[in-house]
Amino acid sequence: MSTQRQNFIVKNDSFICKNCGAENPPAQQTCRNHCKECLYSLHVDAEVPGDRLSECGNLMKPIEIGQDGKKGFFVIHECTKCDKKLRNKLAEDDNWDTVCGINQF
Ligand SMILES: [Zn+2]
Ligand SMILES: [Zn+2]
Repeated sequence: MSTQRQNFIVKNDSFICKNCGAENPPAQQTCRNHCKECLYSLHVDAEVPGDRLSECGNLMKPIEIGQDGKKGFFVIHECTKCDKKLRNKLAEDDNWDTVCGINQF
């Protein structure tokens, strides 16, 4: 018999944020991989956003906002457990107050 485990892959679904409890509807144009209110993410990707190869699964904190000329704004997430950092595109409906708060000195 097969003992292979099947990963549950969610590409662009609505979800409830594990950090702030906000309900996130599916994104319009991009894969939503972080909460639009608090910008927290879950550590499910290993190297590339969307690869879903990590088994960590812990909350990832938004630590930095940057801008990439062609692609627009991005957020850098740091895992609260293993310190892994990943870069993700911001979605159009992300909470701008939260975005601005992250880069405040
Ligand atoms: Zn949230
Ligand atoms: Zn992690």
